[in-house]
Amino acid sequence: MSKAKNTGKSESAKIAMSEQEWRSKLTPEQFYVTRKHGTERAFSHPYHQEKGAGMYRCVCCGAPLFDSETKFDSGTGWPSFFAPASDEAISEHNDRSFFMRRTEVRCAKCEAHLGHVFPDGPKPTGARYCINGVALELDPGASSGGEDSE
Ligand SMILES: [Zn+2]
Repeated sequence: MSKAKNTGKSESAKIAMSEQEWRSKLTPEQFYVTRKHGTERAFSHPYHQEKGAGMYRCVCCGAPLFDSETKFDSGTGWPSFFAPASDEAISEHNDRSFFMRRTEVRCAKCEAHLGHVFPDGPKPTGARYCINGVALELDPGASSGGEDSE
């Protein structure tokens, strides 16, 4: 028990796993989207129309990414949110692939590719986080909204 002194620190530490480790942990589609920057087919994942309350967590590392209270129906066929659960939850990167300039969204903790953010979302933020459903896992009991949870 002498080396158990990482209290709190492990919370913010990044997770680094080899491709082999991710491959064994994830389904082929999860691996393709999150580790290979893939995109699921529109309307292919049930989360695009999921209305349940809770916290959408990173399918790779479990970090809380998007609260269901920020989810909205964008009509695109992908789960869409107007804000991340917290500023630290995600990281944004310039993506110039496919001759477009887009902003890629990743899990800040494990670098999982989640989707992209566009500036045409609803109020109050005006942002539209267009996220692959397979990159998320809805945790129904973990909405950050209420004080009287549980
Ligand atoms: Zn993650």
